[in-house]
Amino acid sequence: MIQLQVIDRFSPNQGARPEPARIDMLVLHYTGMTAAAAALERLCDLDARVSAHYVVEENGVIWRLVPENRRAFHAGISCWEGERDLNAVSLGIEIVNPGHEWGYRAYPEVQMASVEVLCTDLISRHAIPAHRVVGHSDIAPERKADPGELFDWQRLARAGIGIWPPVNSSEPGREIDRTQSLGDLATIGYCATEQSVSSALIAFQRRFRPSRCDGRLDAGTAARLSEVRAAFDRARRAYKVRARPCRSPAK
Ligand SMILES: [Zn+2]
Repeated sequence: MIQLQVIDRFSPNQGARPEPARIDMLVLHYTGMTAAAAALERLCDLDARVSAHYVVEENGVIWRLVPENRRAFHAGISCWEGERDLNAVSLGIEIVNPGHEWGYRAYPEVQMASVEVLCTDLISRHAIPAHRVVGHSDIAPERKADPGELFDWQRLARAGIGIWPPVNSSEPGREIDRTQSLGDLATIGYCATEQSVSSALIAFQRRFRPSRCDGRLDAGTAARLSEVRAAFDRARRAYKVRARPCRSPAK
């Protein structure tokens, strides 16, 4: 295994975790800025009020800005499995990429290799369950698109990070049961109201069916929802926890 090397840099944008502390979630982001240096500046700028525990540059260099036992300010207004104060229970990794606004591009192999090593280390030390490894857009689908459809979740899942079941479904002509599909979405962990269903579906597609992220509940998306939900069910059973579908979404 590659040795994990990090460079420490202090961000004032941090706080205490509630007692008793629980860390059981990992949130992956992209920085969404043109240059890594500017992103690091911002994540350490008191006025910006944003931070993350780690930043991974495109050349694979890893920075630690906030100690893991402290709360970093990365999730913002968000929700997963009906839970809202996600900064309290999560670790956040910012992965350098210009993002959709500034020239979204593929994540280089050397960067993904560092992300993989870092995630593996965090997941094993904190015993973070697979169904609690998410992208920012999964927990804030109306506000966020990161890390986006170019992020290779499949690769991470092969390394035991998060959930990405193989695509078996493509059943053309399959009936779409909207109630069933939205139930699958909620059971996976997405929090969506009727108004935000389309955003939540785009977030789901970015992560699990990146070939078309249009927010439409087509037959392929419905089939994928069903198989992803089954994979999340299996993962939760392995951790002996039950699904907590979001029943009282924000707004
Ligand atoms: Zn983010």
